[in-house]
Amino acid sequence: MTQNTLTTSEKKIRLKELTKLILKYDEEYYQNDSPSVSDAEYDKLKQEALSLEKELSSSDDLFGYTPIITQKVGSQVKSKFKKIQHKIPMLSLENLFTDNDLKEFYKRQRKDLNLTPSDNLEIVAESKIDGLSFSARYEKGVFVSAATRGDGTIGEDITENLKTINTLPLFIKDAPEILEVRGEVYMSKKDFLQLNEEQKNNNEKIFANPRNAAAGSLRQLNPEITRKRKLSLIVYAWGEVKPQILWHTQTEFYKYAKNWGFPIQPFFEICKTYDELQNFYNKVAYERHSIPFDIDGIVYKINRLDYQEELGFIARAPKWAIAHKFPPEQALTIINEISLQVGRTGVITPVAELDPINVGGVLVSRATLHNQDYIREKDIRKNDTVIIQRAGDVIPQVVSVVIEKRPNNTIPFTMPTKCPICNSDLIKKNDEVALRCSNSNCPAQQKEYLKYFISREAFNIDGLGESGIELFFEKGWIKQPSDIFTFLQNHENDLKKLDGFGPKSIQNLKESIEKAKKIKLSKFIYSLGILGVGEATAILLANEFTSIQSLQNASFQDLTKIYGIGDKMAIDIVNFFKDGNKQNLIKELLKIIQIENPEKLEIDKENPFFEKTIVFTGSLETFSRKQAEDLIRKYGAHPSSSVSKKTDLIVAGANAGSKLKTAKDLGISIISEEEFKNLIDKLT
Ligand code: NAD
Repeated sequence: MTQNTLTTSEKKIRLKELTKLILKYDEEYYQNDSPSVSDAEYDKLKQEALSLEKELSSSDDLFGYTPIITQKVGSQVKSKFKKIQHKIPMLSLENLFTDNDLKEFYKRQRKDLNLTPSDNLEIVAESKIDGLSFSARYEKGVFVSAATRGDGTIGEDITENLKTINTLPLFIKDAPEILEVRGEVYMSKKDFLQLNEEQKNNNEKIFANPRNAAAGSLRQLNPEITRKRKLSLIVYAWGEVKPQILWHTQTEFYKYAKNWGFPIQPFFEICKTYDELQNFYNKVAYERHSIPFDIDGIVYKINRLDYQEELGFIARAPKWAIAHKFPPEQALTIINEISLQVGRTGVITPVAELDPINVGGVLVSRATLHNQDYIREKDIRKNDTVIIQRAGDVIPQVVSVVIEKRPNNTIPFTMPTKCPICNSDLIKKNDEVALRCSNSNCPAQQKEYLKYFISREAFNIDGLGESGIELFFEKGWIKQPSDIFTFLQNHENDLKKLDGFGPKSIQNLKESIEKAKKIKLSKFIYSLGILGVGEATAILLANEFTSIQSLQNASFQDLTKIYGIGDKMAIDIVNFFKDGNKQNLIKELLKIIQIENPEKLEIDKENPFFEKTIVFTGSLETFSRKQAEDLIRKYGAHPSSSVSKKTDLIVAGANAGSKLKTAKDLGISIISEEEFKNLIDKLT
């Protein structure tokens, strides 16, 4: 049934339903950086809700219901961040989707400004980078604070996080006494892919697209995590400016912003006619795939500020600007096979092998299906016709199955019980969704391990990346880590015959391999890939044991004595060094590499976490459990997964259950995630 055929009371019911859904999706998107539906799906629902809300309110028929969708910007700040009130609200933009909508917008602006056909109207067309907006405040030229948009009125305090983006000037010359600049923080497609690769290797959350990765990275309680993520920003607007605004047009503002040292719009053009607007849109839409960051549309803004003022605002957006969204990049195709990938730690990931299909200029032939639960939820089967989408223009996803096109003989997918590569048993660890291959000598695990071994936090060999490992592993030149340091001795001539390996790049590779032979103990420990041993734990172990030999000889008791190392991790470490294969790996490496003197981790003994046993329970908003545990180890604390009389402190996230109750019964101190975050903030 279309909206037009609905009765008024059916429309009211539909609007209520839509509002509920939109509020849920807003929360997932704005607060959790984890949307469950595509932007296109969301936009469709929102357009329907907007028109229903407008229609019902214009007929004075909102049944005592306060309009939400037409008024609302973003989502309320519920997170544990400190809050900042915007002096001037940060609004959203209205959307248009078709050429016809654009024509209407253009005509409306001219009409509302009472322009005659001979009057000029300049409209700036500019890229709409898909990230999240921020406002940064400067007082007397000094950066003092920054906030997210939040609900438009109150945003989250991201002052320290924004500072970690090195293109943000912290001091500006010749600026108004008070200057708020507004813009977008984003992550390039390349950095997004790299981040997800790292997240995957560390069993951390995978981001759906660069926008969510940027939001998740900026909205971190620990700015050190933001610093590690490669974020960029541009400035495209302003908030409070005192004593007065110096510019008269949007483009004049860009000149000022650029002079102050802010990165500005990479693509913008002043358009004077509807055709020029349309041409700009088509040009950027055509080129967007080769642009290194995601652009989800074009923003049109009336250039003259006096015109902007005259046109004014509606509740949630200015009338003098609008976003022209690019169409969603979706396509229909068939799943020919569901294959299985084996990761470094043996985790099995199902992958849809697709009939290759062009989605927005890129040929897509595979899409990750994550795990059995994901497949079950969407009921994805071999031979199904599915809608594929390049989420955030990069990673292909299966949006949904077209059930009407399902052949008769399909069967639900079930995960196998044996590893597809080495046929060993697949096992499931207690609370994990994932299945793992139980054989640590599985060739697939070995290849993935090699990629981990050369990663930035480990041996970090310039000029040798994942694709190099892939190639040399397949050729049989590099089978184990020690081969990385020796394979050129036997294969330099073979390498010369390959495309892309000229004498210069081979020489560079040789030099960086040579350089990598000297490594810090903590990086060496990290490179071993011991289950659960991340960067911080590796530093802790290096600090405590000062040599790899003494770490190898450490007993369970030696390890658990260290604040920060729990029983489970101690068992994993002891088992790791007991494994003959691992002993050989280390022996072979030590013949080649040289471990530098260990770095000292200075722990301030006065910090509130020092030598405390801490349990995290419930779902944490801004940290993964692993990140939080890794973090407190740096302060000499001991994370534990069970509550007992020995527990000093409980950090309770949302929906904390039985552990919280036990802690209350035992009279253990309990703090919220926000309080925990505040304590950490004071220490960093
Ligand atoms: P918007 O993203 O449609 O437009 C406003 C925003 O555009 C501004 O706040 C700013 O951040 C950004 N922007 C980028 N370049 C700009 C420029 N040059 N000038 C001005 N602004 C610029 O609005 P919104 O309210 O932030 O978000 C709505 C969008 O978010 C929807 O289009 C939807 O696709 C997506 N969303 C998706 C879900 C989901 O569940 N998938 C949920 C909520 C929102």
